[in-house]
Amino acid sequence: MSADVDVDAEVLDRLGRPLRDLRLSVIDQCNFRCTYCMPREVFPADYAFMPSADRLSFTQMVKIARSFTSLGVEKIRITGGEPLLRRGLEALVEQLAKLTTVSGKPLEIAITTNGTLLAAKARALKDAGLSRVTVSLDAVDDAVFRRMSDTDVPVSRVLDGIEAASAAGLAPVKVNAVVQRGVNESQILPLVRLFKGTGVAVRFIEYMDVGGADFWSDAAVLTARQTRDMVESVFPLTPVEPGPGASTAVRYHHTDGGGEVGFIASVSQPFCGSCSRARVSADGQLYTCLFATQGTSLKPWLSESASEAQLAQAIRLQWTGRADRYSELRATARGNRQSQRYPTVRMSLVGG
Ligand code: SAM
Ligand code: SF4
Ligand code: SF4
Repeated sequence: MSADVDVDAEVLDRLGRPLRDLRLSVIDQCNFRCTYCMPREVFPADYAFMPSADRLSFTQMVKIARSFTSLGVEKIRITGGEPLLRRGLEALVEQLAKLTTVSGKPLEIAITTNGTLLAAKARALKDAGLSRVTVSLDAVDDAVFRRMSDTDVPVSRVLDGIEAASAAGLAPVKVNAVVQRGVNESQILPLVRLFKGTGVAVRFIEYMDVGGADFWSDAAVLTARQTRDMVESVFPLTPVEPGPGASTAVRYHHTDGGGEVGFIASVSQPFCGSCSRARVSADGQLYTCLFATQGTSLKPWLSESASEAQLAQAIRLQWTGRADRYSELRATARGNRQSQRYPTVRMSLVGG
């Protein structure tokens, strides 16, 4: 528990974990078809996405955000699908940025994006009060990037987005790269090289068996340790002391002062023990784990007749009943992961 949080507001789940982070998905659609998230075989051109009438309005999202902050949430990450496809997103950011945590601090508002629309929107998002941006980029080489994103977008378009975000004052920008063995391990060193000394922190994520990763296999996971060994064989790294609060990435600095590199070992060294994250899909389903098989609709508490306190109580009930620790359980069943798979919520619905 962080020292400056009101104890009365501390809401713990069944494993003693507080509620600190909310991932708020604003749209389930995306302009990419990353093969590990929205493979075209599963999401063809005529795929029936969520009807726009089912999506929450910004007013409803703000009501949700206020309820979550009353329960201890300190950070909201806006996600998707591709969140920048949601029209007028700046207006949502502007309203969320006015909220405060239970201890009176400004709420931290971040976005995770594939970066394609970021160059056009970075300034407006910053002006609206966005705190930080994370850009997903799996390759420096155009051919590898196109194969993974299954689009014609060149890497330069994403790099322009990163540059615009930094120029708009959204620094330090983070870059997330999913590593797939046999697909983009050739890109690990080029990514580190490209961002070294620029102030952009690159984090490598293990390829997870999330909903949407229909072609996942254990053999395609390059572990965080293997990725780090590869980086360290060329770039000497020094570990960074973990700060307060849970971080999913194990962080390192270039020993010669070239900035930060992180490794997220979601598969090989799961961090369920400190998982303080709730997720809400664009149609208002609450999920308490990335690997949940079902959510709980918050819509009954989003009408004008339901108060924010009633909504907060509904969320509190879900959180206090939570015992999810999928990745830890999967790790103990190591070697048998493939056969253990069952249909979990799609990553494009809950946004990572
Ligand atoms: N479209 C935005 C983007 O790509 O940044 C936001 C949503 S996306 C679902 C959020 C994050 O989930 C991305 O960084 C993506 O790389 C990651 N992701 C998706 N599928 C994954 C998988 N199978 N394993 C690991 N990370 C995954
Ligand atoms: Fe879209 Fe992000 Fe999924 Fe790629 S990872 S398909 S950009 S939602
Ligand atoms: Fe959190 Fe579930 Fe991931 Fe564990 S598996 S870290 S509980 S989201």
